Amino acid sequence: MMVTLRTSGGSPALIEADPGEHLANLSGTLLTPDSPGYDEARTIWNAMIDRRPGLIVQCADANDVARAVRFAREHDLLVAVRGGGHNIAGNAVCDGGLMIDLSPMRSVRVDQAARTARVGAGATLGDVDRATQGYGLATPLGVNSTTGIAGLTLGGGFGWLSRRFGLTIDHLLSAEVVTAEGEIVRASAREHPDLFWGIRGGGGNFGIVTSFEFQLHPVGPEVLSGLVVHPLSAARDVLRFYRDFLPTTSETFSCWFVLRLAPPLPFLAPEWHGKPILALAMCWSGEMAEGERVAAPLRGFGKPLADVVAPHAYADWQTALDPLLTPGFRNYWKSHDFLQLSDGLIDVLLEYTRRIPDPNTEIAYAQLGGAVSRVPVDATAYTHRDAQFVMNLHGRWTDPARDEACIGWARELFRAAAPFATGGAYVNFLTAEEGERVRAAYGSNYDRLAALKRRYDPGNLFRMNQNIRPAVE
Ligand SMILES: Cc1cc2nc3c(=O)[nH]c(=O)nc-3n(C[C@H](O)[C@H](O)[C@H](O)COP(=O)(O)OP(=O)(O)OC[C@H]3O[C@@H](n4cnc5c(N)ncnc54)[C@H](O)[C@@H]3O)c2cc1C
Repeated sequence: MMVTLRTSGGSPALIEADPGEHLANLSGTLLTPDSPGYDEARTIWNAMIDRRPGLIVQCADANDVARAVRFAREHDLLVAVRGGGHNIAGNAVCDGGLMIDLSPMRSVRVDQAARTARVGAGATLGDVDRATQGYGLATPLGVNSTTGIAGLTLGGGFGWLSRRFGLTIDHLLSAEVVTAEGEIVRASAREHPDLFWGIRGGGGNFGIVTSFEFQLHPVGPEVLSGLVVHPLSAARDVLRFYRDFLPTTSETFSCWFVLRLAPPLPFLAPEWHGKPILALAMCWSGEMAEGERVAAPLRGFGKPLADVVAPHAYADWQTALDPLLTPGFRNYWKSHDFLQLSDGLIDVLLEYTRRIPDPNTEIAYAQLGGAVSRVPVDATAYTHRDAQFVMNLHGRWTDPARDEACIGWARELFRAAAPFATGGAYVNFLTAEEGERVRAAYGSNYDRLAALKRRYDPGNLFRMNQNIRPAVE
């Protein structure tokens, strides 16, 4: 079988190749554009990305990944790697080249005694949470259960448990990696420690991770969690209180907020649906009565439209925001790191909330700090551990005719908020056009990453990512 594929080199060209050379004995599945399942496999979370790979290898195991890498090397193919397919930049899928699809590799094996989990690189956060919560255990992950564990972990990973426990990478014990040479190696503090350093924040630049081993911690089964919703007219006062209140709380408490038009949630009176609101989203993962005491001042401030904070199963809370983040929408993001929530920034956020261009668009503001900030900056590739907050402007809409309005709003707000930001960035939130921010995302770790890239991938085979160019000798 001959297929037409796009090469990656300096001047991309098309070649004819016979995948049978390396891919005859796959345990997984080979998809060409004519195969059933091809369109499903190339469809990712962000509906703005519509690319057609020349060939998709749906890998069943690390050997399949290694075969696909060797095939790509031999023919100098453009390579895209798909984990959960959630990344906003759309690098999980390429036009014309080879897509290495890890999504069939979803196994999660928990070692209850050692409190560890071995997770396949195609697993979603929901797969991991469901399996680990079966034993009352968890590791800090993101807040949307359909996100892929692979991309999230490789960029850092944070969520409700991060202020208490740190980033996802801070609990990574080891990983199995297929290198650009097509070799299968293990990276940990003892084996290939340089590679282990790089994959903890450096994205998919150094190889394809086929499985992750995480340290787990007792969490739940219930956490005190939920939303407190205020009208936008009260948001300035509430956010000033929120800002001053947070540093007084235990790190077991985490509170993010969202500014948007109210969705038709059952606990909001219908007259509020579609009106601008501030939603505080909080999670306390410790002892319940203590959590009630800690959260009480924030919940008691002002006159909320709704307070649905209550004990929820941790695994359920991890899926609570899923209905607002479903796949299939057009999405455009802009993000900033902040050390604080200043009065000036609050004013900017409120002004742009009043002009929000679509009912699905929102301003999300996540809390970090705590255990995240205590890890030294050079301990992992993830650099901006001083950031106390990460803001993500979720431009989200359906009609392509609205592209300009929605993208324009996000870019304008990004510019207006820039004077308050650190200048750093979270690599997992960068769009395809933000390659120039990769250096800022890695700051003082960038040169070490570029040297590591030269060592593990001098030909830049893994270039469809927030790319770190191999250092020049
Ligand atoms: C709705 C939504 C909510 C989110 N919430 C959070 C959150 O709470 N916290 C947070 O930290 N982040 C969050 N993110 C960001 C998320 O971490 C990134 O989008 C992440 O890249 C998604 O990983 P993925 O495997 O699904 O993506 P993919 O698009 O499959 O992959 C992302 C990148 O990683 C590369 N890659 C994927 N798998 C591998 C692998 N196994 N080996 C090497 N390279 C690989 C891909 O080639 C691509 O460049 C969210 C994203 C979305 C869309």
